[in-house]
Amino acid sequence: MTDHDGLLILLTSRSHSRHQTVYHGISLSGPEPKLDAGRRVWVHGQSAVEVEFAFHQITTRRFSDTPRGCAYEEDGNFTFEDEPQKWRKSMPSCITEPVNYLKFRDSVEIPLPAFVSDRRDLHPAATNLVVNLCVSSVGELGEARAELDSLQDTSLNHSPRAQARKQLLATSPSSGMVIPVEYISRGHPDVGVLLLSELRPDGCFRAILYHTDTAATIDMNTILSRWPRRMIRIYEWQKPYDLARVVSVLGSGPFTVEVPGTGIVGACEDGAKFPIECSACGSIVPAAAFDREQLSIIDLWSWYYPWLDEQTRLLEIPDLQDAEKSTTHPLFRRSRFVNERIAFYEPLIRDRCVICPNCGAGVLRLGDGPRVPKSALAKPITQTPSSGHRRS
Ligand SMILES: [Zn+2]
Repeated sequence: MTDHDGLLILLTSRSHSRHQTVYHGISLSGPEPKLDAGRRVWVHGQSAVEVEFAFHQITTRRFSDTPRGCAYEEDGNFTFEDEPQKWRKSMPSCITEPVNYLKFRDSVEIPLPAFVSDRRDLHPAATNLVVNLCVSSVGELGEARAELDSLQDTSLNHSPRAQARKQLLATSPSSGMVIPVEYISRGHPDVGVLLLSELRPDGCFRAILYHTDTAATIDMNTILSRWPRRMIRIYEWQKPYDLARVVSVLGSGPFTVEVPGTGIVGACEDGAKFPIECSACGSIVPAAAFDREQLSIIDLWSWYYPWLDEQTRLLEIPDLQDAEKSTTHPLFRRSRFVNERIAFYEPLIRDRCVICPNCGAGVLRLGDGPRVPKSALAKPITQTPSSGHRRS
């Protein structure tokens, strides 16, 4: 129907993570948008700006078996299972295909909303509509359908996935929900993100469609469809289906800057405040002392430094020379893994570092942020290995 190979993300909020500005959005790209550092893209808001992706990484950890149930840590913020409002956020995320923590190298503040794309020739528009949904529960929307289909064969009634299924099928679409869509109007294909803004007494929704082309005029009775990017089973993709029918068109225009909370642009929780720490003297330096590029290097060093440190310690082990003769030796494998991690960060760091202004010797990096609150540590917790997931 439309081209899914290109990169297309609608940026909908901005936050602060690891002392840097990052953006969050909704993906309209293929299954895995390529967000490699150094890739040049266009940001289309009120005007078009060419920018470059930069590397950004956060920690995500899952803690099981705390006195408050499971807990997630993301960017130093903790969510416990007994906080239903926060916990529920994970449910719609299977539908909206969120892209978190996009960072741009160039020093630009992007007015929101805006599309990020490979293409220079987008003409973003917001169209106010009244739509009639073709689905009656969240469980019928997008990726949730694939999720549910994959549960059918194997689910046990008491399993957490079966519970999630029940919950998705029992929840009606409501205002505030955002869904990526595509449509053809007057033979012209286009894609966009539909925001349900208000449920009317007649069961239809007032909605805003943020789409990529002002020329794609939307008529009454246009069908907005959904092509889930998720496989039901291996090699079996979901088929597109009708999501909503346009009942009337109330008006359309180019993107205007939104006050957060009035349209699709929302507020996002900032990441935890990680202290900027010297690796030699241990002193803490305030973030205000550094510019944007320095803060980015300080952040990179907080990922890079532990590997450097471990490499130094591994090199001090006399047996490592022998261990290297056997590729299956744990010490050899560890050493190879450490070297790989170092090789990953080196091109990003490019020999740059920020030296501590207090001792003039140590390299600055981010120290530990907040930990799991003491109350949650009353009984031992098991922790999956910290796998900082990569975002660019
Ligand atoms: Zn120092």
